[in-house]
Amino acid sequence: MKNLKLVKIQEGHEKTQFKVGDITFGKDFVVIAGPCGVETEEQTVKTAEAVKAGGGHMLRGGAFKPRTSPYDFQGLGLKGLKILEKAKQKTHLPIVTEVIDPRDVTWVCEYADILQIGARNMQNFSLLKEVGKANKPVLLKRGMYSTLREWLNCAEYILAEGNPNVILCERGIRTFETYTRNTVDLSIVPAIKELTHLPVVVDPSHGTGKLSLIEPMSLAAVAAGADGLILEVHINPCEAKSDADQQLTPEQFNNIMKKVLKLQKFMSENIFQASEGK
Ligand code: PEP
Ligand code: MN
Repeated sequence: MKNLKLVKIQEGHEKTQFKVGDITFGKDFVVIAGPCGVETEEQTVKTAEAVKAGGGHMLRGGAFKPRTSPYDFQGLGLKGLKILEKAKQKTHLPIVTEVIDPRDVTWVCEYADILQIGARNMQNFSLLKEVGKANKPVLLKRGMYSTLREWLNCAEYILAEGNPNVILCERGIRTFETYTRNTVDLSIVPAIKELTHLPVVVDPSHGTGKLSLIEPMSLAAVAAGADGLILEVHINPCEAKSDADQQLTPEQFNNIMKKVLKLQKFMSENIFQASEGK
């Protein structure tokens, strides 16, 4: 792939690793979990506590929600970020939150440990340039109509501005299939590993949009070699203001986590190390 000067893995170069809280991206397996959107302090703090209790490493939650309809819940903005700050104080979980406007990047950095760029903004080049100047890692979601080449060029935009800490996130793409919300493209995980030095996580919540499919696709992502998962969890999913159908209850999250961590341990001890040593 032409022009991927910074993103491409070069002979003899190390994989990208960087620390966020206690986690080293690119080395440790990371589970980022939390509500789709920040709705109330109680909802966010209780969900954060459940994520922590279930073994999650970071809290996700949108204060800015890029919604298909202008009449749907758009997020609480600054109020939402302040709620995330409270949840962080209580749980010590680092915060992953979306930024949708280049003008907001500087002040959102005061609350976010990782800036999320959503699928709908993957090719928002002014936003990419702005987060490229920020001093926070960026979780770059794959656009729902984007090829790997287009996606990696977007990561290149961020690196070219001087920010080397990018995490790629596969969140499903649009195909002719309608049973699932999107089609999770798991072959992209090993493809990213062979082409780039960047960590990659998988989002089976938006990827499938179906509760029953989140566990099997989480396990499949682990087996494919993903560096982590991002999962939507809500203290009371039926009352969620966005993505109510796909948010896990704390109990469902706990059950998935047990299996995910077990499989991840097995894979890293028996399969990944063995294939690296070949
Ligand atoms: C989200 O993570 O809440 C979100 C809006 O995801 P995506 O950009 O992948 O649709
Ligand atoms: Mn969502």
